[in-house]
Amino acid sequence: MQIFNEFFSKNLADIAILAQKRELKKYDRGNFPILRHNGQEFISFACNDYFGLSTKESIKKAGHNALQKYGNGAGASRLLTGDNILYQELEEKLAAFKRTQKALVFGSGYLASLSAIPALVGKNDLVLMDKNCHACHIDGVKLSGAKFYRFLHNNVESCHNFLKLHRHKFTKCIIITETVFSMDGDTAPIGELLSLAKEYQGALMLDDAHGLGFSEKSLNEQNLPLDEHIILLGTLSKACGGYGGYICASSLLIDYLLNKARGFIFSTGLPPAVLAANIAAIDIIANDKSLPYKTIQNANYFCTSMNLSKTKSPIIPIIIGNSKLTLDIASKLYEQGLLVSAIRPPTVAKNSARIRLSFSASHNIDQINKLINALKAIL
Ligand SMILES: *Cc1c(COP(=O)(O)O)cnc(C)c1O
Repeated sequence: MQIFNEFFSKNLADIAILAQKRELKKYDRGNFPILRHNGQEFISFACNDYFGLSTKESIKKAGHNALQKYGNGAGASRLLTGDNILYQELEEKLAAFKRTQKALVFGSGYLASLSAIPALVGKNDLVLMDKNCHACHIDGVKLSGAKFYRFLHNNVESCHNFLKLHRHKFTKCIIITETVFSMDGDTAPIGELLSLAKEYQGALMLDDAHGLGFSEKSLNEQNLPLDEHIILLGTLSKACGGYGGYICASSLLIDYLLNKARGFIFSTGLPPAVLAANIAAIDIIANDKSLPYKTIQNANYFCTSMNLSKTKSPIIPIIIGNSKLTLDIASKLYEQGLLVSAIRPPTVAKNSARIRLSFSASHNIDQINKLINALKAIL
C-alpha cells in the first residue's frame, strides 16, 4: 500500500491547498427545514427538499406501511424477482405526470444516466452536452465511448456549430441539457435545442432532476415532453424527498432500456418503503400546485430583498469567485445557525465558487429574513 498511501496523501494535500478538501458532517434532519448538528439547530438552505416532503407525515406513513407489508429489501434485481408491484404504480404515475408513454425507475438519477447513455450511444455516435450539465452525464458518456463535445452554456448557436462540423461523421446523436440547472438555477432553451435535435436526426435528453414540480408548466406549454425526440431523466431524491432515478420516454425506448441498460439489469430494486413513499410524494406534487408556487414565492422574496433579479427556480447562486472566501462566508452563516452550500471547483468552473441557496415551500418568512440579514451583514 506504500505507493497508494503516498498517492492519497499527496492528492489530499493538493486539494487542501486549493480550499477544495471535502468532509462529512452528521445531521439529524427529522424536522425539515430545521437540521440538528452537534446538538445545535440550523435552518437549512442547502437541501434539495423543495417541498419538505422528506419529512412529511403522510409520506412517512406510506413508507412505514410498505415496510410492514413487504419487508425491507427488494430481494433481487428487477428482472429477477425484485420488481415489487409498487413499481408499476410509481412508473404509471411518473409517466402520467411527465406526459410520456412510459417511465422506468432506476436505483438513482446518477445510475439512470450511467445506465441509459451507454445503452443509447456508443463509439460511432455523437453527444453534445451543455457545459454546465451534471457530472453524471459526463461519466455516462465516457462509459459509452461516444465522441462528445460540450457546447457553451445555454448557447444554441454553439450547439449548432458542433452539429454542422461533426454530425455527418456519426450514426446517432444526443443533445443533453437540463430543465433547471443544478448550480445556477437557470433554465435551458428547450424548444430551440429540440428543433436542432430534429433537424439533425438526433434526440434531446433533458435532465429534470431539479425540475420535478417546476418544469411541467413550461414543458406543457410547448406540448412537451410528449415528443418522441425527448428523453427525460429525473430523480426522486430532490423535490420528491425520497430516493431513486427515472427515465420517461416512449414505450419503445423504455422497453429497449429495460433490456439493455446495465445499471438497470445488474442492480437490485429499490426497497418497497422507498417506492411507496415516492408514490405518495408524486401524488402530492401532481395535485398540489401551491407547493411550487410557495417555493418560488420564497425564493423571490429573497431575491427582491437582496436586489437580485427574479427567479423561476428554487436555486439561487451567489457567485463569490474565490473558494476560500466562499468557505469563509458559509462558515460565518453556520455560526449564526444558517446552513448553505459552499460550491467550489471542480463542481463548478474555476473562479466561480458560490454560495448556493435552495429555497423550499417549508421555509417561513422569519427564517428567510434571518438569512437575508446575515448575508447583508457579511457581503
Ligand atoms: C442530483 C442530480 C442528479 C443525480 O440524481 P441522484 O438521484 O441524486 O443520483 C442528476 N442530475 C442532476 C442535475 C442532479 O442535480
